Amino acid sequence: MRNKINILIITSILALVALSGIQAYLINNTYQLKKDVFIKETKKSVSSIDNTKEMDSLTEMWYNKLTENLVKYKKRKLLKKETIEQFGLHRDSLNKVFQEYYKKEIKKANLGYDLKYKKTIKSVVIFENGNPIDTVFAANEGENYFLFGEDFPEEEGNVISKGRWFTEHDYEDDKEGELLKTKLDLEIRTQDSINIIGWQRIVLKQMTSLFVCSVLLFLFVVGLLFYSIKTLIGQKKIADVRTDFINNITHELKTPLATLGIASKSLRNKETQNSPEAFSNALDILDRQNGRLQKLIDQVMHNTLGSEEITLKKEKVIDEEYFKEIIEDFKLSVQGQDVIVSSKIEFHEVYLDIDKFLFTTALFNIMDNSVKYGKGNVEIVLRTKLKDDLYEISIHDNGVGIPEVEHRKVFEKFYRVTDGNVHDVKGLGLGLFYTNQIVKAHSGRIDLESRPDLGTTFTITLPIAEAE
Ligand code: ATP
Ligand code: MG
Repeated sequence: MRNKINILIITSILALVALSGIQAYLINNTYQLKKDVFIKETKKSVSSIDNTKEMDSLTEMWYNKLTENLVKYKKRKLLKKETIEQFGLHRDSLNKVFQEYYKKEIKKANLGYDLKYKKTIKSVVIFENGNPIDTVFAANEGENYFLFGEDFPEEEGNVISKGRWFTEHDYEDDKEGELLKTKLDLEIRTQDSINIIGWQRIVLKQMTSLFVCSVLLFLFVVGLLFYSIKTLIGQKKIADVRTDFINNITHELKTPLATLGIASKSLRNKETQNSPEAFSNALDILDRQNGRLQKLIDQVMHNTLGSEEITLKKEKVIDEEYFKEIIEDFKLSVQGQDVIVSSKIEFHEVYLDIDKFLFTTALFNIMDNSVKYGKGNVEIVLRTKLKDDLYEISIHDNGVGIPEVEHRKVFEKFYRVTDGNVHDVKGLGLGLFYTNQIVKAHSGRIDLESRPDLGTTFTITLPIAEAE
């Protein structure tokens, strides 16, 4: 059963982990999808920027400047590096116009969020007779020639369009003193990209309801699982306790029943019938065993009561007198056994408002345990103390002790510590449960301090009654 529960717990946890994995995968997919849709929509909204008259004239201007410098390069008046640098100077002044223009256009698009727009040149290659002969500029991976807009790192942007055009430009070249009409064939590649500021936040915001639902559903499933497992363990505990109880009570009933059988058999015996002494002895045994069975049944009946159901017949007792009486009675009940009972009762003359019969049962249950779970010579010390308006009664023994993990459980109904050889001692696991119920019914509390082999101390705290 324990194994089955463990397997169930492990399988459930694994299923939960797998489910969370799938959930995370699906959320990630949705995120990617939403991101793509969002970027696509933004691209659509800003695509018009490139198709306006203003843009056409700007393009013409930078193209003219570029070819002007390339002609100088062809005429060997500029080096490659210088060509790019020279073009750069014009680019800076044109960019101011471009920036103003695109910002105005983006404002018109009314997107509701900010974005950066940039145009870059990917490559400029000179052709001759349809073949590339000189690469003036070529972007290495991840780097471009920034043309217009606001610059941002390549990896932070999204490409919205790529352009590739071939152009022909006529110019006059001075060759050996003669001016010749020459053609400049060019291939220019450009790229437009945008960088949407805070796009992650925007996409995540769109997914808020999905996130909230997922988390709530996940918590619900975890809660449900936790509750089911807890109930299952609880049920198993109850089943165990029932089995233990049945075993214990069968064990407890066996001895008196067997003795009753022997006694009644001996009563049929002629010899016993003829000896008045043996006859009365057998009857005594019958009586004693009958009493024992009655006590056992009473114990079970009483112990099914909770603290609210216990009706107290309270009376006011003076502490010292009451506890002295208890010690005397208990000493009498353990006469002939290796038990030393001592007490340290402070003289307070305090009144306690208790049901004498029930409270005595509670204290006797504790002291009975001290004898039952003692080792060697049993020593029991009963102490009383006054702490403000609370009365403290502690019962200490030098017995086998109770491991820390069992401290709370020993007060549960039918619970018995299964460690060591404690189970050689008979019991129903009801004594401390009943004691606890009685103490609670008196508005008190019971605590326990114990460690294996170092003995046990039970402490009962009670409110004191006002003096009469
Ligand atoms: P019952 O009292 O119903 O005849 P029980 O003594 O087994 O049976 P409780 O008195 O409720 O039941 O005690 C519960 C368990 O706590 C015991 O089985 C025992 O293992 C442990 N226990 C209680 N008192 C002591 C003690 N003084 N020293 C060591 N173990 C103790
Ligand atoms: Mg007991």
